[in-house]
Amino acid sequence: MPKRVYIAYTGGTIGMVNAGDGYAPAPGFLEQRLREMPELRDAAMPEIVLHEYTPLLDSSNMTPREWLAIARDIFENYAAFDGFVVLHGTDTMAYTASALPFLLQGLNKPVILTGSQIPLVELRNDARENLITALLLAANYAIPEVCLYFGAKLFRGCRTVKVNAQGFDAFDSPNYPPLGDVGIDIQVNWNLLRAATGENLSAPPRELNATVASLRLFPGISAEFLRNVLKPPLQGLVLEAYGTGNAPNHNQELLDALAEATARGVVIVDCTQCLRGAVKLNAYATGAALLDVGVVSGADMTPIAALTKLNYLISTGHSFQETRELMQRDLCGEISV
Ligand code: ASP
Repeated sequence: MPKRVYIAYTGGTIGMVNAGDGYAPAPGFLEQRLREMPELRDAAMPEIVLHEYTPLLDSSNMTPREWLAIARDIFENYAAFDGFVVLHGTDTMAYTASALPFLLQGLNKPVILTGSQIPLVELRNDARENLITALLLAANYAIPEVCLYFGAKLFRGCRTVKVNAQGFDAFDSPNYPPLGDVGIDIQVNWNLLRAATGENLSAPPRELNATVASLRLFPGISAEFLRNVLKPPLQGLVLEAYGTGNAPNHNQELLDALAEATARGVVIVDCTQCLRGAVKLNAYATGAALLDVGVVSGADMTPIAALTKLNYLISTGHSFQETRELMQRDLCGEISV
């Protein structure tokens, strides 16, 4: 039996054409292009079914609604395919790759997000290799995770960030080693993968509609500005703080604004602005001050993963206390300390 892979084509540079005013997705174009690629008919390739989304999006236009639509699409087609490839723009691919693991609880098949920096239609491109390897990974490797494949590296989705706007090595997972390296061979680092769950895939939540935000601290940030951000209807905030999670502790008004918000039930999660390393709120007085006002540590989660997790937990009805606890616990491989 040939392997079967479902391609959820959401948009992104990979299938774009330049119609005069910059690259934009063109309905039907990628499917046509794939039909013309002899390598996709090679005996080693899986059978593919391509589902083109309407409208195709530049991923800058993605919202949590689209994350849910992708999760539902995978859920509905789960039994009929060996693996899934999500073709996606690179700009917000790390957000979707971070959100999907929470939305696909019980996943036991590979879901590989990929895209490209140069469209498939161009002579020089990274689209062809990214697509073909993603398809082979989804078809032939028993990876029970949401991953992002790009630039010859396979990453855990909920650990990724876009680190390069130009290079073919556009992504990294700074706090977790790559799950795979692709050179002459496709080498999967099996010891780094999560174990298969032995469960059935659960239906994704009906809605993902919590009011959450992230805020990067900057020197001179005012209490008034912070108060405005924390105003109702905000339910959760990822605070991107300095170093090991520190914030100014000489500005009492700023700390009061955080304390008032947590007292109102806003979950505030502290992540670091640094690419690598973890939050340790006891390391400095400037971190301990945050603990005192009810902020919880996001440890080594990316701010992106923290934001999607916060949205997921609040949207699925977890209480303030439960959300605070679960934000500090590993659910999908997003946190390691
Ligand atoms: N703006 C594009 C997008 O995110 C960039 C890309 O795909 O590389 O859809």
